[in-house]
Amino acid sequence: MTDLNAFREETRTWLEENCPEGMRNLSFHWEDAHKIYNTDVAEVWRERMAAKGWIAPMWPVAYGGGGLSREEAVVLSQEMGRIKATAASSGMGLTMIGPTLLEFGSEAQKQRHLPSICDGTIRWCQGYSEPGAGSDLAALQARAVIEGDQFVINGQKIWTSGAQHADWMFALVRTDPNAPKHEGISFVLLDMHQDGVSVKPIGLISGSSPFCETFLDNAIAKREDLVGELNKGWSIGKRLLQFERSGIGGLSGAANRKKVVKTNPIADLAKRYVGTSNGRIADAAYREKILKQSMTEKAFQLTTARVVQENQSGQTPGATTSIFKLVGSTLARESAALKSEIMGIKGLGWEGEGFDSGELEATRNWLNSRAVTIYGGTNEVQMNIIGKRVLGLPD
Ligand SMILES: Cc1cc2nc3c(=O)[nH]c(=O)nc-3n(C[C@H](O)[C@H](O)[C@H](O)COP(=O)(O)OP(=O)(O)OC[C@H]3O[C@@H](n4cnc5c(N)ncnc54)[C@H](O)[C@@H]3O)c2cc1C
Repeated sequence: MTDLNAFREETRTWLEENCPEGMRNLSFHWEDAHKIYNTDVAEVWRERMAAKGWIAPMWPVAYGGGGLSREEAVVLSQEMGRIKATAASSGMGLTMIGPTLLEFGSEAQKQRHLPSICDGTIRWCQGYSEPGAGSDLAALQARAVIEGDQFVINGQKIWTSGAQHADWMFALVRTDPNAPKHEGISFVLLDMHQDGVSVKPIGLISGSSPFCETFLDNAIAKREDLVGELNKGWSIGKRLLQFERSGIGGLSGAANRKKVVKTNPIADLAKRYVGTSNGRIADAAYREKILKQSMTEKAFQLTTARVVQENQSGQTPGATTSIFKLVGSTLARESAALKSEIMGIKGLGWEGEGFDSGELEATRNWLNSRAVTIYGGTNEVQMNIIGKRVLGLPD
């Protein structure tokens, strides 16, 4: 038996014994993640996985990670998928600031911040966007002034996802207002539990508040929580965005999706809502749309799997990540729209007895899918990056 087969067997046994039933077969939207993780059963699962280092399976053991090779991490992911185990922890710590600190953090910063990401006890949020700085992120104005061994920060962030549940924020702040706009920015980490930070959830028409306005009013970041050099935060901030886009674009965990999936949920939906004729979807126009969408999704899945497998370093690629963000988010939006269209009036329900839970979920998914092509940088911004940084086109 090869080492990898032995690892698979051990992992399968361990997961069967240790993953609580209540953490299997869960489906939830990211906006509701805090509810899923605030339960006793989630706590048990988190502690067990953290003890194995499997919340961050490929990170170094020294920081609380699992120290697994890429191949072992793929096996773990496949085995978790087999029993439909929910990730023991999730969020921006694991997907954004953790990988960024591994690349740019000082040894002291890694020791200080990575273990609490690896054991899932600290939640992070992203302080990038401001009322006057979204796509043009480098226009940000939140001002940080050095006083002794700390930064005093004043300004406002907006659309800060999960700020109301977060313990720490990574933020881009302006430390030199006289420098050209990309050169006076620093990347800092700050504690959300302090007087200088206040958050105001932004209520949506749906009743949920996935993101907040975050006010920094003499907020403090310790000098030791400056990542990289003073005024050189822009390139670190951009690298973090590549990690974010990599997750949105389906590169994270893509390596285990190579197997051929025989079911086609969109076709099944069409059979139910459009009807069948001789075992085929009754409407030829829908057959064509579904075929095109399914083939494009399959091709995209195979491409993400290939890119992840070719990239042995385990790191996300550079500017090409924008291609995956653009294509992945567009496909997700189109898939949700097609499902909603196929369901007709049943795909437009918000509440009431006339709709079953799957139909109500489809409406919400369709509306939420609009956001994927905005957060992490809009589609237009991704196209600009691809044009400039991948294709080398002139400004
Ligand atoms: C669900 C959700 C969660 C979010 N979470 C966070 C978060 O946690 N932290 C955070 O910091 N931010 C977050 N954001 C903010 C997000 O990053 C911004 O919304 C995004 O960068 C766009 O900025 P904007 O909303 O200011 O739009 P704008 O920049 O005003 O853009 C408006 C329109 O103009 C287009 N446009 C702008 N500039 C160009 C250009 N140069 N070329 C072509 N077209 C252009 C855009 O594509 C867009 O269609 C979140 C957003 C959403 C929707």
